[in-house]
Amino acid sequence: MKIILNIATHGNEKIGFEVAKEIEKLNINKNILVVQIANKKAFDLNKRYIDQDLNRSFPGKKHGNYEEKIAYKISPIIKSADIVIDIHSTTSNLKDTLIITNLNKKTREYVEIIQPKYVLIMNPTKNNALISQAKVGIAFEYGKDKDLSTLRNTVLGIKKLLKYLCIINFIVPVNNATISYFNVVSVVPKLEGYKLINNIKNYKLVKKNYIYARKGKNLLIADEDFYPILFGQKNYNDIFGFKGKKIVLK
Ligand SMILES: [Zn+2]
Repeated sequence: MKIILNIATHGNEKIGFEVAKEIEKLNINKNILVVQIANKKAFDLNKRYIDQDLNRSFPGKKHGNYEEKIAYKISPIIKSADIVIDIHSTTSNLKDTLIITNLNKKTREYVEIIQPKYVLIMNPTKNNALISQAKVGIAFEYGKDKDLSTLRNTVLGIKKLLKYLCIINFIVPVNNATISYFNVVSVVPKLEGYKLINNIKNYKLVKKNYIYARKGKNLLIADEDFYPILFGQKNYNDIFGFKGKKIVLK
């Protein structure tokens, strides 16, 4: 079993470093679990990225820009691992969410052990996100970067998985909560000058014909029912976030 604990895919998300510190206290054999700092330069400069979002740069280019070159270099390393855990934080109001790009049998098995509140199956990034390169790739987006609960719950989720894989001893607290799965199908473009309507919230259904953003008298109206995912005015430069469809797994 080889696990990569990947941190700083986004250099301004410091949570990964704190998570790695907690996991290193467990003294797991380095042949089993290694910590990888994906974008060291962006991390040192406290920037999300240098040239472009690393988490949209895979599989990368040998002679590309800074992030494309990193992606090209680490893609084979990611492919070689049995499990890749990628740690993020978010400014979007999004609690205890796991992101995956490929719902295969093993990924689902591990996700259910970690027991997040939400699982997002990301179609728009299924070929270019870091985890898209992994046999089993699981990204944690458990909350805001500085919130202690983000750190605590992320570490707890990883420990549950390590216990399940018989790598550590750990008494798992009882949790009977159910997991909600969303298929994330497309992006919602952020048009110049438009502001999101206040009551647009992650995981809260936006019905067809509902107004979700406006610019003075100009309105953006939903053309279908969708669940806002990773939504926010400032989360991304060019999109408000993503459209999700709730799914029930058998
Ligand atoms: Zn991130």
